[in-house]
Amino acid sequence: MECLPAKGPVSPHLPFGDQRSAPFYGKDILSVKQFTREDLEYIFGVAHEMREMVARVGSFDLLKGKIMASLFYEPSTRTSSSFLSAMKRLGGDVIPINEVRYSSVSKGESLPDTVRTLECYVDVIVLRHPEVGASALAARYARKPVINAGDGVGEHPTQALLDLFTIIEELGRVQGLTVTMLGDLKYGRTVHSLAYLLSLYGVKINFVSPEILKMPADILSQIEEKEITGAEFTDLDQALPETDVLYVTRVQKERFEDIAEYEIVKNAYTITPETLKAAKEQMIIMHPLPRVGEISIAVDDDPRAAYFRQMEYGLYVRMALLAMVLGKA
Ligand code: ASP
Repeated sequence: MECLPAKGPVSPHLPFGDQRSAPFYGKDILSVKQFTREDLEYIFGVAHEMREMVARVGSFDLLKGKIMASLFYEPSTRTSSSFLSAMKRLGGDVIPINEVRYSSVSKGESLPDTVRTLECYVDVIVLRHPEVGASALAARYARKPVINAGDGVGEHPTQALLDLFTIIEELGRVQGLTVTMLGDLKYGRTVHSLAYLLSLYGVKINFVSPEILKMPADILSQIEEKEITGAEFTDLDQALPETDVLYVTRVQKERFEDIAEYEIVKNAYTITPETLKAAKEQMIIMHPLPRVGEISIAVDDDPRAAYFRQMEYGLYVRMALLAMVLGKA
């Protein structure tokens, strides 16, 4: 997906000091490809501070008076509620539009017109849409920052940021780790974005999937350009013993054109306590969730199961991103 040029500041009024010096002020968050290693370190620094602030005071008024629109054309539990919580914990307000069928979208309104409407009322728009490139399209029309909360099988940049933040908070580093991605690597937008972010670090990535759900060739070649080798497997056995981060994904039923194909691969992998006997003692299991059988609930009590903690890290990363694009971090 093409990255758009950065937007300028959205308001000439700067009531809280010189917001223009904030590096992400007024910018869209559309793709992981817009970030450098330095950007990531900055974001994770702010997210870490957010984590400490939430632990200390719960909520605070950094974004008091600011309003976020949350415009979701696809189902969501974690992404939508963590963005809402993030805005509210920062003292801001939210217009949630989760049921677009009750909005003018059902009357045939186009995405550009919908965002041009919302930006009259809000300071930032968080968008989830089933089509690849929808956020970039919205951003082209909006003067206010647009945050991509998942565009079809394309990208999920804020998820990838929280995934990387989880790895750093849990394991203390990214460099030198072996990350194994398992499941639906073809349609899983979270692994598309995460693979690219990981390629900015010296990591080894294993891709384990059924033959028909392999990581798309363009993503493999992008990470190879960064001199990261992606080894591909159909079986987890070979990759698991060296794995530091096992990133499990759901087979994305809603993306299949032929449901018979889904039926063949839907139960391709299930992580159980038995599977983990071959894994390192010091490793983590992640999942963007929802899970639909690929991690047995018997794994939940294993200290290596990081997927519930991962959701919480998402709150801090989304607080950081909102504060940043609104010029407060
Ligand atoms: N929640 C993630 C997403 O929106 C993963 C999933 O749906 O499987 O992409």
